[in-house]
Amino acid sequence: MSYNVNEKGYYGEFGGAYIPEMLYPNVEELRHNYLKITAEPEFQAEFDALLKDYVGRPTPLYFATRLSEKYNTKVYLKREDLCHTGAHKVNNTIGQILLAKRLGKTRIIAETGAGQHGVATATVCALMGLECIVYMGEVDIKRQAPNVARMKMLGAEIRPALSGSKTLKDATNEAIRDWINNPLDTYYIIGSVVGPHPYPDMVARFQSVISKEIKEQLLEKEGRENPDYVIACVGGGSNAAGTYYHFLDNEDVKIIAVEAAGLGVDSGESAATSALGKVGVIHGSKTLLMQTTDGQITEPYSISAGLDYPGVGPMHANLFKTGRAQFISITDEQAMDWGIKLSQMEGLIPAIETAHAFAVLDEMKFKPEDIVVINLSGRGDKDLNTYIDYFKL
Ligand SMILES: *Cc1c(COP(=O)(O)O)cnc(C)c1O
Repeated sequence: MSYNVNEKGYYGEFGGAYIPEMLYPNVEELRHNYLKITAEPEFQAEFDALLKDYVGRPTPLYFATRLSEKYNTKVYLKREDLCHTGAHKVNNTIGQILLAKRLGKTRIIAETGAGQHGVATATVCALMGLECIVYMGEVDIKRQAPNVARMKMLGAEIRPALSGSKTLKDATNEAIRDWINNPLDTYYIIGSVVGPHPYPDMVARFQSVISKEIKEQLLEKEGRENPDYVIACVGGGSNAAGTYYHFLDNEDVKIIAVEAAGLGVDSGESAATSALGKVGVIHGSKTLLMQTTDGQITEPYSISAGLDYPGVGPMHANLFKTGRAQFISITDEQAMDWGIKLSQMEGLIPAIETAHAFAVLDEMKFKPEDIVVINLSGRGDKDLNTYIDYFKL
């Protein structure tokens, strides 16, 4: 059994492309071309060169000495926090902008919640000299002022989403509407392994550089390519998909997915999609999503804006359903405490999303000889105000 996507765009029962007819030509164009274009040697050479010289890859695999000692196991951190713009998201936006250019597109649109994907998209648009429009909920525009300013400096136009809860899912709806109205010149850069096929597979492939490097780096450091555990936080699931990708079909490597429990899984204020989700369709994909009994999408909650999404990508829904990955929910409080702990034990201030992944060290017991790789998906600069308010720093 493979845990990767099949030719029809499904991971088990999840995935597919559930889209309005008017989007069909755009999504079909992408589906027809993405594997062909990304396999071209010239594409790969340009992608690799930008990852190296612009993003700063390969990112290091760092042996965390003090954490390893305290938890009596071997903890390695994959340093995606060192990527340009501060997180893994740019791996994907570089890949998609190169694809957009080869499809002859001149206008780029994106959705963003916390602003991280918006910044990563605005960055590559500036790099390529392409027009950039970012849809963002009005509420998020107020909450994420520094990222709004960054996007403006990079030359992007921010368009507020004024409907619904005025957050990420509303911004996504606006971006989809824009794409329907501008099918010829516009390319939609989606920021995670979500959306209609081929987006989840395409984004996972661009992010798979993370596990490709982990294998090479572990071989050098430990004499074996495969760790015993890979651990990542899951919002939509892109950093996790990249971390798991080359280990998916090797069941000796155990996969741990960490979701945001918010104030607690049963508190009504949570974003723990696997624990609370039911099968449904969101943004063009059949997956697990938080919804009421009559199918209305439930507002998710997490202190970290990047994990605050009511669904999860179809790859992860399938990893959950099949039991290939173990899902663990971590509360705001546990994550925030790890923000301090990682800062003071390793000198690394993590994004709050990322801090969730580390709390697994308190929830599970590892053996001394186990190799445990945690993906450090992003740095905490963007979260400084949240840390300041929470800890009265
Ligand atoms: C956006 C973000 C996430 C969540 O998105 P995924 O697609 O699940 O990776 C996690 N960590 C950081 C640092 C982010 O910026």
